[in-house]
Amino acid sequence: MKQLVSKNWDAILEMLENDFEIKPVLFKTFIKPLKVYDENDDTVVILMDDEVYQHNDSYVKEKFYAFIKNSIETVTSKSYNLKFISKEELGSYDATKNEHNLLRERAASANLNPNYTFDTFVVGDNNRLVTAAALSVAENPGTNWNPLFIYGGVGLGKTHLMHSIAHYILENQKDARVLYVTSEQFTNEVIEAIKEGVLASKEFRKKYRNIDALLIDDIQFVIGKERTEEEFFHTFNELYQAGKRIIISSDRPPKDFTNIEDRIKSRFGSGMLSEINPPDYETRMAILKKRCELEQEHLSDEILNYIATNVNSNIRELEGAYKKVTALNKLVNVNTEATLEIAKNALKDIINPNVKNVITIDTIIDVVASHYELSIDQLRSSNRSSNVAYPRQIAMYLCKQLTSASLKEIASKLGKKDHSTIVHGIKKIEDDLENEKKSNNTELSVKLDVIKKLISS
Ligand code: ADP
Ligand code: MG
Repeated sequence: MKQLVSKNWDAILEMLENDFEIKPVLFKTFIKPLKVYDENDDTVVILMDDEVYQHNDSYVKEKFYAFIKNSIETVTSKSYNLKFISKEELGSYDATKNEHNLLRERAASANLNPNYTFDTFVVGDNNRLVTAAALSVAENPGTNWNPLFIYGGVGLGKTHLMHSIAHYILENQKDARVLYVTSEQFTNEVIEAIKEGVLASKEFRKKYRNIDALLIDDIQFVIGKERTEEEFFHTFNELYQAGKRIIISSDRPPKDFTNIEDRIKSRFGSGMLSEINPPDYETRMAILKKRCELEQEHLSDEILNYIATNVNSNIRELEGAYKKVTALNKLVNVNTEATLEIAKNALKDIINPNVKNVITIDTIIDVVASHYELSIDQLRSSNRSSNVAYPRQIAMYLCKQLTSASLKEIASKLGKKDHSTIVHGIKKIEDDLENEKKSNNTELSVKLDVIKKLISS
């Protein structure tokens, strides 16, 4: 099946020929013979296989790169990087690509997330030691730090770090067999093996004992489940005695486990125990900047600072906050950069779930005036006709009810010299509400509710 760029290559060439005032002879000589050799989601590989390019390849790349990129983007509505290769480079390009594909397959069958690597893991004071331990275990098959036991609270990077170790081993040891499992998967497989009988159990043992590195995540969920714990213990022992690497994560250190067999507890503590801590401000900023880089998005330092200052519990939430801001900005602004206002809006549920918008007298005057289709000046005037005076009294009442402003301040904002006018206005609305209640009516109170909602939205 042809991919997007190959499929549209004729149209792309046509656009190059017609839309950029490239001289026809240049187009014919340098652009027309270009072919799409390969493409993936973000890169198009273009082959320069004609003799013509032998001494002109850098000229072509420099002169036409932007035009080609632009045409591809216009025709396919997608942005790609371009990579040019010559006929001589094909062999090594194919070999590297095969290697990558193979690595990707190995990573997939080891249950790894392709994005969780050391490259994307930001190192700060909170995780410097644990990262060093992880790297050391990843690098040395014969490590003394076996098992490596990583512990810390949720969303602090344990899973990311474990996947990084596994990727590293796969990349650097071409024949290493690596397996990452969550404790939940492990438990389910034990249950399934028991249910299916002996043969399946054999299969299970073959799978888990025939590997060079086992990574088991969130071991706290295995603790206390007798058969699973037992099976894990046997798996652990066999791998351990064979000198295979075992990496375990948990939400707490082994000493905090109750309800666990001592023999397992002591195994956990026999290698390297390493804690991962919550990130400090600088690390949170660095993680956000890394995210921008990876997503090729731009958020101003002011916004990153706002997120990093206010979301400080864990990295999962930090990433969640980042995503909310960029998502809202895409909805509202499409092509422009997010503002601090957008960020505050996007995060108000996370950052200030209990704090209502601060309501000011100005907002109240604004909303009341527009609700009654008056201008602000009219509302602040001394016009006594009821269609102006009554909304004005409602504004007085709401200012008293929704803000902590003094009567004097309310009077001055509403253009009144004397605060007794305010007292009178508030009293009028209170009386009306009282009377309305007596007569089982709700018109005014409903109206006030609607206006209040408008004010606090
Ligand atoms: P845990 O397993 O401790 O609950 P995760 O490894 O799932 O935490 O991390 C939560 C999210 O935060 C993931 O998306 C992960 O990529 C990200 N993350 C955690 N630590 C870092 C770090 N040091 N650098 C970059 N991203 C991180
Ligand atoms: Mg995890």
